[in-house]
Amino acid sequence: MHTLHHDLGVPPAINASGKMTALGGSVLGDGVIAAMSEAARHHVVMDDLLRAVGREIARATGTEDGCPTTGAASGVAIAVAAVIAGTDLTRIEALPDPGDAPCEVILPRGHSVHFGAPIRQMIALGGGRPVEVGSANKTTAAHLEGAIGPRTAALLYVQSHHAVQKGMVSLAETVEVGRRHGIPVLVDAAAEEDLRHWPATGADLVIYSGGKAVGGPTSGMICGSAARMTACRAQYGGIARPMKVGKETLFGLVQALREYGAAEPGGHGPRMEKLAARLAALPGITTRVVADEAGRDIHRTEITVDPAAAGRDATGLAAELAAHGVHVRDHQSVTGRLFIDPRPLRPDEEERLVNQLTALLQGEAR
Ligand SMILES: *Cc1c(COP(=O)(O)O)cnc(C)c1O
Repeated sequence: MHTLHHDLGVPPAINASGKMTALGGSVLGDGVIAAMSEAARHHVVMDDLLRAVGREIARATGTEDGCPTTGAASGVAIAVAAVIAGTDLTRIEALPDPGDAPCEVILPRGHSVHFGAPIRQMIALGGGRPVEVGSANKTTAAHLEGAIGPRTAALLYVQSHHAVQKGMVSLAETVEVGRRHGIPVLVDAAAEEDLRHWPATGADLVIYSGGKAVGGPTSGMICGSAARMTACRAQYGGIARPMKVGKETLFGLVQALREYGAAEPGGHGPRMEKLAARLAALPGITTRVVADEAGRDIHRTEITVDPAAAGRDATGLAAELAAHGVHVRDHQSVTGRLFIDPRPLRPDEEERLVNQLTALLQGEAR
């Protein structure tokens, strides 16, 4: 079992934190793994495969066409490059230098997120110049509008739990501003579960991760109009070359898209209630079940750590668990809270989590 993991000294991790790129994205289903090994056994004309996968993405997202990517991060860079250079070969080959093409990408300041790397840098990689408008907790349509000028290439909207959730201009308003000024709207919906909802808002290019909600291999996709997707794919002859997607990944992404929606109902609420009740018996912690802050159909167990009674604070507890191979959701640990995300957690792994937490807290609490 796990021979190569152990040879490498990197044993499998227990993931209770959600769909995390830092923990390898998703664990793949047998169908996806079979598709990837089928791809690995044959040569294929990659340009044809890219277009065929684009059609699958279109079907899954309810759009005209799609462009597969290595992830949502490269999706942002490629989408920005596509709105700046289009299919103009000279411009494509000059990026990330945009020359005299409009290159400013306007985004609300509260959307300037870091998901493992700053989104500003992905914009720059595609030849864009990020222009943050408004304040961290307050951005209106007027802020977007005030920044629009002859150098504007796009408006970027980040639909994410990482973004500030209050005081931000809505996507509907953003689309409306874009329409009025003839400027394309890009949506980074990396971890969103509803693949059809975001393109249906009227946004021009929507970006998803293939390794998060979709449960596919480390991958991503852009979707939108046929013309926009032709421009996206054209970037593989330019800045997207070092982001090229392998045939195995493309097959895995297609299979994951075909299976998506059939497998995973939400409904982890009752399971998390049970877990919360069990963990509440441990010294120094209180628990409850909370809904996802970005409105997705996810319920998590929230663990609030009382440092005096638990013998360490939430950040310390998360670090000790991680040292034992158990990774909880710790974005908000400075506020004393940790979360258990049920989605990637198998029942046997949930038991190991309970046992580890029990050992730490009952072993050392006073
Ligand atoms: C995870 C994430 C990304 C990066 O996605 P990858 O598929 O890992 O490249 C980009 N934007 C947001 C909002 C994310 O949550």
